Amino acid sequence: MTSISLKKDSGTQLNADTPCPSCGGISAQIIANRDGKTNETLITVSCSDCGLGRIDPLPTDQELAEWYAKQYRQAYKSAVQPALRHVLRAGRNAQQRWQWLLQNSDGLLNDKLAHSKQSLDIGSSSGEFVYLLHTLGFKAKGIEPHEGYATYARNRLGIDVNNGTLQHCLASELPRSLDLVSMFHVLEHLPEPIAALRNIGEKLKPEGLLYIEVPNALRLCSPHYMFFRAHTLYFTGQTLRNLLEKSGFKIVSHNHDGSDNLNVVAQYVHSHNMNHGSDATHPLVSAQNARQWAPYLLQQLKDGQPMRKWRMRQEEKRTAAQYENGQALLDALYEKH
Ligand SMILES: [Zn+2]
Repeated sequence: MTSISLKKDSGTQLNADTPCPSCGGISAQIIANRDGKTNETLITVSCSDCGLGRIDPLPTDQELAEWYAKQYRQAYKSAVQPALRHVLRAGRNAQQRWQWLLQNSDGLLNDKLAHSKQSLDIGSSSGEFVYLLHTLGFKAKGIEPHEGYATYARNRLGIDVNNGTLQHCLASELPRSLDLVSMFHVLEHLPEPIAALRNIGEKLKPEGLLYIEVPNALRLCSPHYMFFRAHTLYFTGQTLRNLLEKSGFKIVSHNHDGSDNLNVVAQYVHSHNMNHGSDATHPLVSAQNARQWAPYLLQQLKDGQPMRKWRMRQEEKRTAAQYENGQALLDALYEKH
């Protein structure tokens, strides 16, 4: 690793320190060499065999847990009280995710069947999705590594959220016990995704569903936005589906590969799919090379983004101000269901 010049542009070939967590390959191309948030050295590479993006070297589970613990200690000293505006936005987001799932679960899940089904939201944050499923009649649980958020969700929303890491909390779930496992913006933080996905698969009932959302690493954004230490993996629609199939899942449905966030619903079928696809054309390197400030900002202006965001914030402030607390807000929001 030390022999690599950090000045080299994206597209430079290298042999990675850590094999690709999806296909095991070490041949790769550099996408970026800096942490977009801190400007520290951080090598992000694209796998030459399958196209998955990752930071190199990948941290171990242990290193990552320590890094998060440190970040969290710095960011929050005690329990978290999310702003009502945040609760409103996250609450609406949870509704959209649920609607998308209903329309894309191939009839395997529907409103009326929700009663007494077991769900687990991994990385439940301030708990809006767990609360929505609870409202719909699920036996809904969450896992949240951030102690402040987990405490908030338990004490203020009264939902069952376990504070800890995925590995630790999953261990207490019975095999083949869950009807639905959701993971929104979690998979891209894991260093050993196949082990984690198989572990999750073993906890799902045979007809159970895994619902995943990750950021699309090909989406339009500013040149600095993407690469930072918390994200270990970078997905395209294809590399996400490949990883799930390698982990023993069958894809039930997915959204468009050009979406800002990639959504997938999958079922665990145990088998290892040998005919997984691969992409050796380095789409992540091309996407990064195409990212420049001027076109990005122009596109934002053309789309009316600054104005739209400002209006959205005003509306969120007004609406959120009508409620005394997060639970009252979510109750009003989810009543319309
Ligand atoms: Zn690979």
